[in-house]
Amino acid sequence: MRLRLKGGRVLDPANGEVAVARDVEILDGRIVAATNETADQEYALNGDIVMAGGIDLHSHIAGGKMNLARLLMQEDRRAYPELRGAFCGCGGGRAVPTAHATGCRYAELGYTTVFEPAMLGANARGAHLEMADIPNLDTGAYLVLGNDDYILRLMAAGAPQAQINAYVGWMIEATQAFAIKIVNPGGINAFKFNARKLDLDEANPYYEVTPRQVLLTLIRAVTELGVPHPIHLHGCNLGVPGNDDTTLATILATEGRRLHLTHLQFHSYGTEGDRKFSSGAARIAELVNANPNISVDVGQVMFGQTVTASADYMSQYRNRGMASPKKSIGMDIELDAACGVVPFEYRDKSFVNALQWAIGLELFLLVEDPWRIFLTTDHPNGGPFTTYPHLIRLLMDRDFRNAQLATLNKVAQQHTMLAEITREYSLEEIAILTRAAPARILGLTDKGHLAPGGVGDVVVYKEDADREAMFSKARYVFKNGRLIVKEGEIVDLVAGTTHVLRPDFDRSVEADITRWFDDAVGLKAKHFRISDGELRGGAGPTILKCVGAP
Ligand SMILES: [Zn+2]
Repeated sequence: MRLRLKGGRVLDPANGEVAVARDVEILDGRIVAATNETADQEYALNGDIVMAGGIDLHSHIAGGKMNLARLLMQEDRRAYPELRGAFCGCGGGRAVPTAHATGCRYAELGYTTVFEPAMLGANARGAHLEMADIPNLDTGAYLVLGNDDYILRLMAAGAPQAQINAYVGWMIEATQAFAIKIVNPGGINAFKFNARKLDLDEANPYYEVTPRQVLLTLIRAVTELGVPHPIHLHGCNLGVPGNDDTTLATILATEGRRLHLTHLQFHSYGTEGDRKFSSGAARIAELVNANPNISVDVGQVMFGQTVTASADYMSQYRNRGMASPKKSIGMDIELDAACGVVPFEYRDKSFVNALQWAIGLELFLLVEDPWRIFLTTDHPNGGPFTTYPHLIRLLMDRDFRNAQLATLNKVAQQHTMLAEITREYSLEEIAILTRAAPARILGLTDKGHLAPGGVGDVVVYKEDADREAMFSKARYVFKNGRLIVKEGEIVDLVAGTTHVLRPDFDRSVEADITRWFDDAVGLKAKHFRISDGELRGGAGPTILKCVGAP
């Protein structure tokens, strides 16, 4: 099957191509060098923009907390009923769309790969079953560690790093994970021992281990195991005014080792001014700019109804009184972590919400290197992923951005420097943020670009000065060379794959892990472990080897 996209302008920053007029050819699902062979299908693009399929490295699309959020938010599916069309029947929803709707809505925007950033070991089997139900997207999941009793017990006992590395390797393999996420290091566990806050150097009341120790121990584990993606960190004190100091201290704690700070917007709050809530974005962006080992995604706040769902029950417990509508869920999840679901409406007339919006945009515009910052709303926590086209316009169009700013809470307008920032993102930079850079930081060498050997995930956008309109409906989306979206409408459903990582680790750790499961966990280690055959209805995973592995 040979497919030719003729006469487009290729935007492929990974290979230095900026709107280069050339054909793109796909043979049996992979990009190949252009030939003169007769194509089975040919599309005339007449100068349309061609990019690789979008990659979202942080979006909550599967797992226990999303199902709880769906349970809680029936009104979300009433407000956004399913679209009528030959390929829907998908149940609808916006803040927490069904698995099916997640795949369809992402594909319409031109995304073909999405990573679930918070899979708990105890929920891993369910998360994988759910991801297999999402059409048109390749997926993968980051395993949440750092609040699990096994690792805190090892650290408290002064176990050698090699033993911790082996446990991390075993857990990645057993849960079919792709990377390691830490949520509020040690803090979720500390909550279970009645701590209500835990800063970087505060000790867990039971294990007497600090968040700094958890972070550095796990950074060392993924480095020594050769995990391509750095530790994906949701830091201490999410949402707490004054957490900008914690974030700065966290960056300095890495001493040059790689770290990804996720939803940085929620960790960039100062305490200046009479409201004791201010933007820490400028200080943080400055330190990110000076530390090339740090990458970030923003977790932009977008106005409207959404639902927050997080393993960080310490912060969700704090916020539960702000739930809108007034209902929430809090849960303990085995020995792994916890889970809190709190519906929330971000209001443009609220001082705090308007400033959160501005802080996110300040981060986007003040962090200089587009290869180290990623376009996210921490879906659905800051807003649904369907708002991405609007966010892209805010980044690319200064007049539009300032016009929006002028409608917000008046006091908040005086607390942000946003109006003075002249930067506008270029199309090339958007392609970096949403494709090339996520592929690079995840170690996916055959994604995020359009050179021969790349997967045939290709998106065509019709150039439009209104960037929101342009990115709302892709003209064509091809998944592995198959047309799935035409003029912004789903025309086919295909099964994606699941990206997993296979680290090498010392298997002698298994005896101790088996004992631990027998003593403390509700199932045996051999049943906890997920086989390849359980993934994607038996199709199995796509395996990435660790850096340095043979
Ligand atoms: Zn998140």
